Amino acid sequence: MALGDRPFLVDPAGFGPLCKCGKPHPTVDVRHYAGEDAFTVLADDCREAAGGSQVLLVDDENTHAAAGAMVVEALKDRGIDPVVETLSGDVEMTDATAERLMAGRGEIGLIIAVGAGTINDLGKYAANAHGLDYWTVPTAPSMNGYTSSIAAVKIRGVKRTLPARPPRAIYAHPRVVREAPLKLRQSGFCDILAKSVSDTDWRTESILFSGSYCPLPSAVVAGSESAYIPFPEKIRDGDSDAVTGLFDGLLLSGVAMTLAGSSAPASGGEHLVSHVLDMRESLTGRKPELHGLQVAAGVILSAVCYRMLSELEASRVGKGKAVPRFESDLKEIPAVWGPYADEVRERFLQKRAQLVQFDDLLPRHWDRLQPLFNAVRKPEFFLDLIRRTGFPMTLDAVRLSPDEFRTAALTARTIRERITVLDVAAHAGVLEAAVEEAAGLMG
Ligand SMILES: [Zn+2]
Ligand SMILES: [Zn+2]
Repeated sequence: MALGDRPFLVDPAGFGPLCKCGKPHPTVDVRHYAGEDAFTVLADDCREAAGGSQVLLVDDENTHAAAGAMVVEALKDRGIDPVVETLSGDVEMTDATAERLMAGRGEIGLIIAVGAGTINDLGKYAANAHGLDYWTVPTAPSMNGYTSSIAAVKIRGVKRTLPARPPRAIYAHPRVVREAPLKLRQSGFCDILAKSVSDTDWRTESILFSGSYCPLPSAVVAGSESAYIPFPEKIRDGDSDAVTGLFDGLLLSGVAMTLAGSSAPASGGEHLVSHVLDMRESLTGRKPELHGLQVAAGVILSAVCYRMLSELEASRVGKGKAVPRFESDLKEIPAVWGPYADEVRERFLQKRAQLVQFDDLLPRHWDRLQPLFNAVRKPEFFLDLIRRTGFPMTLDAVRLSPDEFRTAALTARTIRERITVLDVAAHAGVLEAAVEEAAGLMG
């Protein structure tokens, strides 16, 4: 059987009725194989697909032990001798890391990433930059980036999500995924919970500006949610069905981003908080926590913002606030960002034109927006779900001081041009109070 005969992860034939925007969505043609024999199947496909060209397998010390070594063995059994790059524990995903990975390589035809977040972004980004084929072997249900058409990369200190072709094929070994450490499962659970707030961020932006919202991406993920959202204890206990359900949900969440043509369905203001924490490592010395766990702090913050906004009168979001608010936030950037201030300022300035329209657009659309805000689940609901996975969900547990959380939460909206609930909350004058309330809930 050749790669081209493997089933697609999702069947586009089912998309038609779910799309309400009427615009064409990008094609999703990721092949997916899951089974205890995933690595031998990968090796068979590799012999067919790679021909005589060299295969580069990238993993790290942990994922090499969990799966990489078995993949290498399976490849060697089929007469393929891959170049193996096993990175040490603390890899940071920057454009320089990707360049180092590829420097001095001969003819590479295919990159196979064996790992989760960073390894996956690295393989995807490098393959994209060099026009190579890219396959992935996920080792944990820890984040939703496996299937997405973006890679998170730090460039000149600023975390960016850049377009990168999704893998052509995914080979998932259920036991490897299931036996991933509890903290990685908790991280994946939180990463996918972000959709509950980010989807509303996207709908809000769409009403105010772009009109780009389509329910298709969310619907693609929603079908899987009943398998894991109601069962946080089963995620904690490593229950096979719940963890597999979570993993499938994460793969579909990446597909949702590809379908939307942006990360908007799965990443809003809550993700910006996590990106800030990653970016500030070199300024504060604080090692970032797992992506999903940092995102979780952002989910609580966004949910608090939505609750506050749902209780506001339209008159509170009225005239004359936009320019002064923008100018005062712009002034804060150097103190928060030090050497990265120019890069961040450039990002924030890119959304000035939209932010100054808030004075008109928010009151005009408030009656449409409030029911959306009101429909977002309350912060206590998310806290309860996360805590039932066994993760305490306090700032302490994410290794965050209240001060660093405050700084990250208040500056998060300056690092990206995307409009999120954090912008609306800032304009409405409730962001500071929301940050305090969220800090209190996670105290
Ligand atoms: Zn659509
Ligand atoms: Zn995420």
